[in-house]
Amino acid sequence: MKVLAVTSEVFPLVKTGGLADVCGALPAALAAEGVSVITLMPGYPPVLTELRDTVVILEIADLFGGPARALRGQAGALDIVAIDAPHLYARAGDPYVGPDGVDWPDNAVRFAGLGRVAAMLAKGALAVDAVHLHDWQAGLAAAYLCQRDEPGPGIVATVHNLAFQGLFGAHMLEALGLTAEQFSPAGLEYHGAISFLKASLIYADRITTVSPTYADEIRTAEGGMGLDGVLRQRGHNVSGILNGIDTDIWDPEIDPAIPVRFGRGKPVRRAANKAALQRHFGLAENGTALLCGVVSRMSWQKGLDLLLEVLPVLRAENMQLALLGSGEPALQAAFSAAAARDPDYVGCLFGYDETVAHLIQAGSDALLVPSRFEPCGLTQLCALRYGSIPLVARVGGLADTVIDANAASLTQGVATGVQFAPVTRPALEQALRRLGMLWRNVPAWRRTQRNGMAMDVSWRGPAAAYARLFRALRA
Ligand code: ADP
Repeated sequence: MKVLAVTSEVFPLVKTGGLADVCGALPAALAAEGVSVITLMPGYPPVLTELRDTVVILEIADLFGGPARALRGQAGALDIVAIDAPHLYARAGDPYVGPDGVDWPDNAVRFAGLGRVAAMLAKGALAVDAVHLHDWQAGLAAAYLCQRDEPGPGIVATVHNLAFQGLFGAHMLEALGLTAEQFSPAGLEYHGAISFLKASLIYADRITTVSPTYADEIRTAEGGMGLDGVLRQRGHNVSGILNGIDTDIWDPEIDPAIPVRFGRGKPVRRAANKAALQRHFGLAENGTALLCGVVSRMSWQKGLDLLLEVLPVLRAENMQLALLGSGEPALQAAFSAAAARDPDYVGCLFGYDETVAHLIQAGSDALLVPSRFEPCGLTQLCALRYGSIPLVARVGGLADTVIDANAASLTQGVATGVQFAPVTRPALEQALRRLGMLWRNVPAWRRTQRNGMAMDVSWRGPAAAYARLFRALRA
């Protein structure tokens, strides 16, 4: 069974978030299920640099304003097809925004190009059984594949974050090669605009999102971001499959990025990593303080403004904070100011840094994820595996992957973390106090930590679920 995955990001080539992690790890897990994945992505400069043993599998004289080639090659164990189209993708830095921090003005054609090549390859040179479209960037592939009434591959669309919909002006319709018939409320029109994400939701055979709870949330008016009606209409074709993490990259027993490696049997060895983390963030080297970590994009979604508001509670509970993030300048400034006021207790680093992310997972006692919504969330999965107890908002995939340490779960010995709801300041404050109580109850803390470390957060189960979905489509 052959599947063409279509995505804008693949770790370690290009990454702005969890989408890249998923697309980097799922192919190997699917291979174990007998599904071979070829991944199509834009030929951003780092992609073309990394690709080995390339062969040209398609040449296009004019792909939205310039010539393009599809180059198939290897990046590590990944079978990649990169679209070499310099007029669309030969730009340094972030894949979506220019150096001025504003979206590239031609993003509509840049990602229509991805969809167009996907449709050509899926029916042509690659002749796959199914295409797997990731997020809005791949969405138009579904619209192009459905333009001709002829048999084609099955289409699965996976929503990693409904907040990003790829909306562009209706005046682009003809230029993008879409038909007037497709531009209707029953098609890819969204209140007068062209919606790349809606195209995938309408034309895909199956829609998945990255956790069962998020699959429920996006079908409600509160969580549907304007697309809940469309999603409800798709009925049983919508489902949630939890993400996993790459347990070769995230393995505390062999992780080259952390000072001291440790396994499930030896979480006490984490103490040296905690000291290293405190030093790295300039915090007081204090073994009794509870060291909280954060690894996050800094945006409204992630609830870090709430975390700012509860810093006094952290301090009162003898909790330190080590935050690694990148995003909204106002939030960064506020956390910088907090760190300047209380450097023994609050430390922050801004930017994107894989090594520090690993150190936080290996050295923090708890990992805070106060997201307002979270399709799946990956950092809490890494935390579970690394023995850092996750404190999470009870939303989306966070609700599905953490078992709250309440009286019942502690008695049964099954707790893995702390949850709070609703996502408000008082609820977060109360959760922090509960985390403090758990910390002071050493046997309960250790048990909770061990439970988390024993959880299967790998791609094995999720990959089997995707494989079943692809096979069901073919049948
Ligand atoms: P999202 O995709 O919404 O950003 P996820 O939790 O699904 O959130 O995935 C985030 C991924 O990006 C994780 O692998 C996390 O470790 C990583 N990450 C986020 N911020 C940073 C950062 N500043 N430095 C390094 N890694 C980061």
